[in-house]
Amino acid sequence: MKKTNIGTRAIWAGEKDQLAFGATQVPVVHSVSFGYDDMDEWYDVAIGKKEGHIYGRNTNPTVQAFEDKIKDLEEAEAATSFSTGMAAISNTLNTFLYPGDRVVSIKDTYGGTNKIFTEFLPKQHVEVALCETGNHEIIEQEIEKGCKVLYLETPTNPTVKITDLERMAQVGKEKGAIVVVDNTFATPINQRPLHLGADLVIHSATKFLGGHADALGGAVCGAKELVEQIYHYREINGATLDPMAAYLLLRGMKTLKLRIEKQNENAMAVARYLQTVDVVDDVFYPGLEGHTGHDIAKKQMDGFGGMLSFSVKGGVDTVRHLLPKLQFANRAANLGSVETVVGPSRTTSHVECTPEERAAMGIPEGLIRYSAGIEDIEDLINDLEQAFHALPEHLFVNN
Ligand SMILES: *Cc1c(COP(=O)(O)O)cnc(C)c1O
Repeated sequence: MKKTNIGTRAIWAGEKDQLAFGATQVPVVHSVSFGYDDMDEWYDVAIGKKEGHIYGRNTNPTVQAFEDKIKDLEEAEAATSFSTGMAAISNTLNTFLYPGDRVVSIKDTYGGTNKIFTEFLPKQHVEVALCETGNHEIIEQEIEKGCKVLYLETPTNPTVKITDLERMAQVGKEKGAIVVVDNTFATPINQRPLHLGADLVIHSATKFLGGHADALGGAVCGAKELVEQIYHYREINGATLDPMAAYLLLRGMKTLKLRIEKQNENAMAVARYLQTVDVVDDVFYPGLEGHTGHDIAKKQMDGFGGMLSFSVKGGVDTVRHLLPKLQFANRAANLGSVETVVGPSRTTSHVECTPEERAAMGIPEGLIRYSAGIEDIEDLINDLEQAFHALPEHLFVNN
């Protein structure tokens, strides 16, 4: 039989084995433990000789359906899940990095990930090399100096910079590194890092996978031998995904392809519109021909994603006037939801940095992150238009 397409698999994969009583939907199994009358069977399940569940911190049927679905979408050998995306990231790094090891990554990783690299790993005597995002030669040089884990994220927050995954994964693997990619922004609909040579793919399922901003979760997919080690770390350390959250994420994932296709389209249209607005200085979206990562994005992605950012003349003052005028956008820190979400980078992804640090990272104070929802595009553009028109003139007299 021909291989099933990803939109169909997003609906069907992972569910069948967990159905009960003829129900067509995966049950939310809230039981903390799973009992056995037969002592030999209990023992066999406990030592992994027989399939089954023992205790909710380790495994659960609803959680397993979520893991099986994301495993299928990333076309991975194995997957495990976490209470949040950050738990997936920290547990993965802690599984493989010990005193004396070296990790190579980029400066523009998600804010929380950056804190692990700058605050926590150095305390554990792990050497961290953070490279200029998008500068492939520098990353290669750092890998050459020694690299246990190569940790990448593309596109990045908030200026959606692109890293060539195939090229970097090859260099990393030649050096014997475990190549890890945070695929949260792209989702498996737009990008499949395992096909490009990565060993492990990480998701904050809280964002596009769930898609409704109503459940936190994380996942790691990849080679069984690596995922088993990460699972072992998580089952002992306890950052387990809750069954109710797993159910909400599973339900969200059924519409993943529809949502991502619409978000790709909406983000592209909004980016093109913003380029025509006088008050807008710069628009960052990998789908735009002028974006520095456009060619690589075109090569490694099937769609350019729902995330973009733009900077406005007049900086923070303009942001303060503009964002509250939007009718169809939540002003919040999340992203990837069916609703459009906007926020200034100085308040959301890079709130921990000083204005000087943000400037050094190429993040203007007037930068706005825009997560395109699935609304009708005409309404999103009309909404932006009326908000720009309502800006007071005095904001720009000195610009
Ligand atoms: C939000 C996010 C995370 C962290 O996920 P949580 O579920 O909030 O812990 C990690 N990476 C990226 C790219 C994110 O956007």
